[in-house]
Amino acid sequence: AEVLNQVGVREVRAPRGNVLTCKGWAQEAALRMLMNNLDPEVAEKPEELIVYGGTGKAARNWECFYAIVESLKELENDETLLIQSGKPVGIFKTHEFAPRVLISNAMLVPAWATWDEFRRLEALGLTMYGQMTAGSWIYIGTQGILQGTYETFAACADKYFSGTLAGRFLLTSGLGGMGGAQPLAATMNGAAFLGVEVDRKRIERRLQTGYLDMMTDNLDEALEIVLKAKEKKEAVSVGLVGNAADVLPEILRRGIIPDIVTDQTSAHDTLNGYVPNGIPYEEALELRKKDPQKYIQMAKRSIVEHVKAMLEFKRKGAVVFDYGNNIRGEAYANGVKDAFEIPGFVHEFIRPLFCEGRGPFRWVALSGDPEDIYATDEAVMRTFPENKSLVRWIQKARTHVKFQGLPARICWLGYGERAKMGKIFNEMVRTGEVKAPIVIGRDHLDTGSVASPNRETEKMKDGSDAIADWPILNALLNAVAGASWVAVHHGGGVGIGLSIHAGMVVVADGTKEMEIRLERVLTTDPGLGIVRHADAGYEKAIEVAKKHGIKMPMLK
Ligand code: NAD
Repeated sequence: AEVLNQVGVREVRAPRGNVLTCKGWAQEAALRMLMNNLDPEVAEKPEELIVYGGTGKAARNWECFYAIVESLKELENDETLLIQSGKPVGIFKTHEFAPRVLISNAMLVPAWATWDEFRRLEALGLTMYGQMTAGSWIYIGTQGILQGTYETFAACADKYFSGTLAGRFLLTSGLGGMGGAQPLAATMNGAAFLGVEVDRKRIERRLQTGYLDMMTDNLDEALEIVLKAKEKKEAVSVGLVGNAADVLPEILRRGIIPDIVTDQTSAHDTLNGYVPNGIPYEEALELRKKDPQKYIQMAKRSIVEHVKAMLEFKRKGAVVFDYGNNIRGEAYANGVKDAFEIPGFVHEFIRPLFCEGRGPFRWVALSGDPEDIYATDEAVMRTFPENKSLVRWIQKARTHVKFQGLPARICWLGYGERAKMGKIFNEMVRTGEVKAPIVIGRDHLDTGSVASPNRETEKMKDGSDAIADWPILNALLNAVAGASWVAVHHGGGVGIGLSIHAGMVVVADGTKEMEIRLERVLTTDPGLGIVRHADAGYEKAIEVAKKHGIKMPMLK
């Protein structure tokens, strides 16, 4: 599974096929998904074990990575491996129906939960930033976010532009692991798209994977292409090499107001994510190592300029929203007191879906054969033919999405639908319609699995934004319900101190036992999301809870 490439750099790639290298399919799935997270086709910086999202890592260091691999290979079917911030620390005898792996990443006692303290502990080799699906081994490349971004842009189109982004100019920045989904999600919705990205290599990567149409260094050229496409109502995406903190104010200065403005730079991390302006990119990278404090100061100053431009676009009529990278929080902390006039995307577009237990359901074919995913695509479309937007998404994904690493698919499914699909996939494994087991998981950005007051739980109806009991209950519940592995993380999406969230993965291996566990976990997981929103007083969630007979002792 690990080879050296031509230049002697180590490359990790998950095993394929239906032959076990571990003692059971749950361990095998964890092993392959860990390796898949670090596949050079999947990870942003595999040599540093960084999967995506600033420094979101799959294991603490290479020594830990190999120890996890060895542990998974030896792990019995009644044992549970404990991962403490990317390091395997213990194996206990539990029981067959328990998760094979339990993961806790980047957890800090609240009063110590700052980036400074985190970095101090990280430098001592004691912790690791796991983002959301990096340290919980269920990242599936840029496709994972593509569907969420597609849904968000579609919801924006519905809310503000009568259902389509054709003839609309969408401006954003950051074309990294997650942000790289924006151009394709925008053009799938018909938009003329301009994405500002400071790292040329990231833009090239989006071109290679077919997520982006063209690249330029020249703002004049970029604007000409985009504005022409807007006029002709043509969908096109342009990546501009530049710094957002320079480019946005310059577009403003020219009096050009896009229809939609958002951002996916890694502003949640002012040292290893956001890149300051006023300094050439390469020099900024050196400064990051040589003088981190100065770098952070420059990054904060740039974020202020960046957000001020976003606010100005909003005042001039653009639909502006924060896309979950805490750029408003950073700007606010550094003096932009009106930063939160920019609404967050969950509150603006996604929460109504969460109230129905709807969220990001993803699956991976352990066979490595794309045909297995195409078979599951058919199964999804057969199962929910009445859901037109779901069918449209699957069809579009089939033509536009190039697989990275193990073939995978994502679509948003609701309560009841997830359990139904899980059982169908299990049946497909049992009958041999697919060649090896299917791994089912999700993002931590989901209905009941995250507390993140600047993002998923912003402006909750009852003010419960910072209540973090829900993700903990989510993880505990999924563990006892029989997930294959469960993770709790701190700091994903928006950064250290700002979020607590949980992930789960459950493996369809075709057995009767897993059928029962799939149904249970894929019910408890979105079910808790409905409970969370019903408890907060959302009418829709209360209605859905009642409709499905979800027991809530204090719901009137
Ligand atoms: P990433 O680190 O892989 O990519 C960020 C990109 O921003 C990099 O390519 C970097 O070069 C670029 N960048 C940094 N500063 C810049 C600047 N000043 N101007 C132009 N480009 C700049 O991160 P990612 O995985 O793409 O995630 C991006 C952000 O979005 C993160 O903060 C992440 O937490 C957040 N996020 C949001 C969602 C969501 O659902 N909305 C999901 C995942 C991540």
